Amino acid sequence: MMSFWRTQSIGLAIAIAAVGVLAGPAASQGVPQSLTMDSAAAAALARRPPRDRPDTIKAFPLRKLGEGVYAVLGDTGRGSEGRSNAGFVVTPGGIVVIDALASPAQGEALLRTIRTVSRLPVRWLILTHHHPDHHFGAIVFKRAGAKVIAHPDRRTLASEDGDDAMVSAWTGVLGLREMQGFAFADTPDIPIARDTTLVLGGRTLAIQVPGGAHTPGDLVIWVPDARVVFAGDLLIEDGVAMVVDGSSSGLLAGLDRIEALHPAQAMPGHGRIPTDPIELIHETRCTMLALREAMRRDVQQGVSMSRALASLPPADRDRPVSRNSRVRRNAVRVYAEMEQELVHSSGVADAMKDSVAMVRCRH
Ligand SMILES: [Zn+2]
Repeated sequence: MMSFWRTQSIGLAIAIAAVGVLAGPAASQGVPQSLTMDSAAAAALARRPPRDRPDTIKAFPLRKLGEGVYAVLGDTGRGSEGRSNAGFVVTPGGIVVIDALASPAQGEALLRTIRTVSRLPVRWLILTHHHPDHHFGAIVFKRAGAKVIAHPDRRTLASEDGDDAMVSAWTGVLGLREMQGFAFADTPDIPIARDTTLVLGGRTLAIQVPGGAHTPGDLVIWVPDARVVFAGDLLIEDGVAMVVDGSSSGLLAGLDRIEALHPAQAMPGHGRIPTDPIELIHETRCTMLALREAMRRDVQQGVSMSRALASLPPADRDRPVSRNSRVRRNAVRVYAEMEQELVHSSGVADAMKDSVAMVRCRH
């Protein structure tokens, strides 16, 4: 194989030791059980007319983001509810795919899409995180000979009742036909729990581990020669990244790292590719800072969680990742984080840091 891991031997040894530390905060803390049905996010997909279904379409829309770097476009204008984005990088040594979409049928359509550009073997599949809409098509790539690169921490709210329950919930919304041939393939062949560099065919991809931002198992992929970043669900087209499985401070830190790359193009996990990546990063950060400020104030003033939530629009019934639902679920999470902050010694420093960052949001 033409690839090698510059930091593998040291990196992986430390990674294994550090998994517990990097796992992030308890995912379900303070979040009502009824809000954990992430799988229902795909309900809208299941309701599509048959001609739009991935088992009947030849290829997904593509956009070239740089030399040999492609975005496979999901739905736009639907926030987290639509089909997610994926991508791939072509190198002389083979192809690296980023995310595998939501089902074997979607994975097959993604592979057909890649084949419209290159016949080279797919060497690696990198998963940005362990939500089903990003990895339930992974088995297709595994069967095609790819090795899976992912964070070893697979925990999410969607999986807390066990893998079988997650699959049956997901099958319920996507339909058996799309899920035919499904098997889990998100357990990494190469677990990445700290920043790692992948080199394939002379091309470098930097894999960042932001650490508990959108989920405990996030990876951000940076292609330096094309200045393209694949942000996973740290970025969503409408600026509301969900932190229910991760943490708001983790998200803010992750966004800072993405911004520091000065990307020419940033691929969000869902929706339209922004014309100006910095603008979407800024909007996502400011949305989260405003929520943290509001929840911090309420916690400090002894306002109960239900009263704190009263000013927000209600969550949409049966749409757990609609914009309103995301905002409200984030608020529950952030309120709990602010309660922790209140009793934590670094709380004052965290609040100061937020208010400094907020200055940029008021311009
Ligand atoms: Zn996600």
